[in-house]
Amino acid sequence: MDAYEKINQLYDLIEQGTVADLPGPYKVGVDLGTADVVLVVTDSDGNPVAGSLRWAEVVRDGLVVDFRGATEIVEELKKEVEERMGVTLEQGATAIPPGTVGRNALACSHVIAGAGLEPVCQVDEPVAAAKALKISHGIVVDIGGGTTGIAVLKNGELVFTADEPTGGTHISLVLAGAYRISFAEAEALKKDCQSHCKIMPVILPVIEKMATVVKDMLAGRNEYHEYPVYVVGGTAYLTGFGAEFSKAFGRQVHVPPHPLLVTPLGIALFG
Ligand code: ATP
Repeated sequence: MDAYEKINQLYDLIEQGTVADLPGPYKVGVDLGTADVVLVVTDSDGNPVAGSLRWAEVVRDGLVVDFRGATEIVEELKKEVEERMGVTLEQGATAIPPGTVGRNALACSHVIAGAGLEPVCQVDEPVAAAKALKISHGIVVDIGGGTTGIAVLKNGELVFTADEPTGGTHISLVLAGAYRISFAEAEALKKDCQSHCKIMPVILPVIEKMATVVKDMLAGRNEYHEYPVYVVGGTAYLTGFGAEFSKAFGRQVHVPPHPLLVTPLGIALFG
């Protein structure tokens, strides 16, 4: 299965609440995000076996702000997937935005430990995404709910990472202001594909700002100019996002299918 097939398969497993009939040992990844928590199980070759997603607000700007809430959600997702698979999941990997340090960096591992998963690895989010996409040479931009992180890979080695606190949450805040609706209503409006055409003129400046943030991160690093650029993270679900981001960024970027699931799948590959 190629990288995009795996992402599509993971989406189907989560949507349908089903399990792929693949033998263990299994790898587990937990993505604790600003907008959602995702638990993914793969087999030892990285083929998706099961997954579950919960929209949640337990993380802000990449930092765990509701430790108890986060632990309870991971416990629930773990139990749900274990019941579906008929196995006990014992260990797992987590990820953090690049540049997260000290106790903030340890919080994600503590959360999954509290939920009964022994933490085996903690990676940078865009590095996990790069692994899911099987990129050894390229730039991965991960635009989630609260953070925009990038990872540059050269011959399979991570050569540069950076992170800024901007993401889909900022788009929702702009929508809430423009349409005088609550943040929750703005989130729902944004996630409704039918409304994407209508909201694009309102949110375009935020997308352009995101592209400028990434451009600034790479400023002066001309050696990466020819590297392919992949944009992942839930914000890239917006219809037309890839085209508008490419225009403002000044280079064509690739948006994989189900961009929200790329990083969670990649985290599991480290589990
Ligand atoms: P972070 O990595 O910043 O901590 P996260 O892991 O929660 O955040 P993702 O799960 O990659 O980030 O993406 C969440 C963002 O994607 C949210 O802002 C959410 O509103 C947005 N999003 C999810 N689905 C859609 C959709 N269909 N259309 C537009 N935006 C979407």
